Amino acid sequence: MAKFIFVTGGVTSSLGKGIIAASLAKLLQSRGLKVTIQKFDPYINVDPGTLNPYEHGECFVTDDGAETDLDLGHYERFLNIPTSQANNVTTGRIYQTVINKEREGAYLGKTVQVIPHITDEIKRRMLLLGKDAKYDIIITELGGTVGDIESLPFVEAVRQLQWEMPDEDCMVVHLTLIPYLRAAKELKTKPTQHSVKMLSSEGVHPDVIVCRTEEPLSNELKKKIALFCNVKPEAVIEAIDAASIYEVPLKMLQEGLDVIVLKKLQINGYAAPALDKWRSFLDKLKYPKTKVTIGLIGKYIELQDAYKSILESFVHAGAMNECKVQVLDVHSETINEENVAEKLGKLDGLLVAPGFGNRGVEGKITAVKYARLNNLPFFGICLGMQMAVIEFARNVLGWKDANSTEMEKGTNYPVIDLMEAQKDITAKGGTMRLGAYPCEIKKGTLAYTIYNNTLISERHRHRWEFNNKYITDFEKAGMLPSGKNPGTGLVEIIEIPEHPFFIGVQYHPELKSTVESPQPIFVHFIKAAKVFADKRDVIKNPLLETEVI
Ligand code: GLN
Repeated sequence: MAKFIFVTGGVTSSLGKGIIAASLAKLLQSRGLKVTIQKFDPYINVDPGTLNPYEHGECFVTDDGAETDLDLGHYERFLNIPTSQANNVTTGRIYQTVINKEREGAYLGKTVQVIPHITDEIKRRMLLLGKDAKYDIIITELGGTVGDIESLPFVEAVRQLQWEMPDEDCMVVHLTLIPYLRAAKELKTKPTQHSVKMLSSEGVHPDVIVCRTEEPLSNELKKKIALFCNVKPEAVIEAIDAASIYEVPLKMLQEGLDVIVLKKLQINGYAAPALDKWRSFLDKLKYPKTKVTIGLIGKYIELQDAYKSILESFVHAGAMNECKVQVLDVHSETINEENVAEKLGKLDGLLVAPGFGNRGVEGKITAVKYARLNNLPFFGICLGMQMAVIEFARNVLGWKDANSTEMEKGTNYPVIDLMEAQKDITAKGGTMRLGAYPCEIKKGTLAYTIYNNTLISERHRHRWEFNNKYITDFEKAGMLPSGKNPGTGLVEIIEIPEHPFFIGVQYHPELKSTVESPQPIFVHFIKAAKVFADKRDVIKNPLLETEVI
């Protein structure tokens, strides 16, 4: 039977519960334990798949096709093991299950209530991953902030589980904020005291308090928090702001978070933390030898979380190349034929991001054209790949009104078209082509050089696809479909062999990049950007003379 750690949050949202949960998990994993993390979100959407990226950032997709919270991305990047549908549960999903059961008559005439029916369903799901012998420890992150009305049933479920389980099988880590008042030059503990009080009034007392802070916590302050919040002084952990999220596990190690957890859970005989790979990654990250500037062309660039996995993939690939990757966000709506050279002239590589709908697509197409004509390393993901296909159709094949039927239903050249299986689907939630699918790669192509394999598996989230009716036209004109789904023939990868680095993928490679296993396309893309940057330095181009900020 697995042991359970619950991570709650107090004072404000955005304190980085996901990173603390992932860091603790990493430390426990590094000591030889099998750990997974799950997230329980209090909102009523059945999953985040229907949410606009402006709401909660990127939608992360698992191998088994679940559309999930972006924190699952952190869990995978830290732990280097895949998550699944079971790792993300929302209030919506809980209610959906209970209401469906009620309709089936499963409650035998009883009144269906939050307690016990909703809380029982929450508990059932909280324990689910602990059922098989795969894990020693299940960490559960509760979304939201303690005190919110909507998170009450989750906290109540934790209270009941704590009561039901032996003391050594279950514990609660509470993350709070210790604000620094600049005028008073003081760190303040009161909000933490109040949030622990709030949690206690809901019946749950934390075993460990992790304090997010901008300034170091003195021992005195830790003692004060311990006394007023009724935990041992060593159970007050400082989580000081770090330059990189990947430093947090080492900071937590220094603070002894893992040891206090192991003690509480009565886990003995654990190994010393094996973090050599992690440390060497951090060294490379901190001391890069070169730098490249990559343009990220998207329509949600105001919100960093919208492209979380792409940005993290650059961090992994940059470290692998011992190269600092500076990402320059370029709003696709602002790009046009007149300003494209000025906007993209300082870049060493161009990534056109995934997306949905019409807004900003013409800017993306113009950017692709610039990269194609200027030998600028190009990497298109999902919609980005589709834009590369449209650009090629319009400007190389000469089909001026080529388009995706997502953007223009009546186009004469629907080079990107709705997948056959999607044509009768009207419901939105969970209905795209989702999750892992195999892709067969042609030998002798850029894709083969990158993956060094003829059969790969990557994750998907889309409805439209390359229209195979035009495949020979594209091949003849110099755009090669180098990867296809072995069963359906659906084009997964396109490239332009004449270009030094031009690749577009229908899937989302960014969802599988981890610290210990950086995604190979990103690694090769940064390598190509380094080559481009070196060459560019010797070519006189007035546009490149000013430093990129
Ligand atoms: N809108 C496109 C489609 O559904 C691309 C989706 C994406 O970029 N994830 O096919």
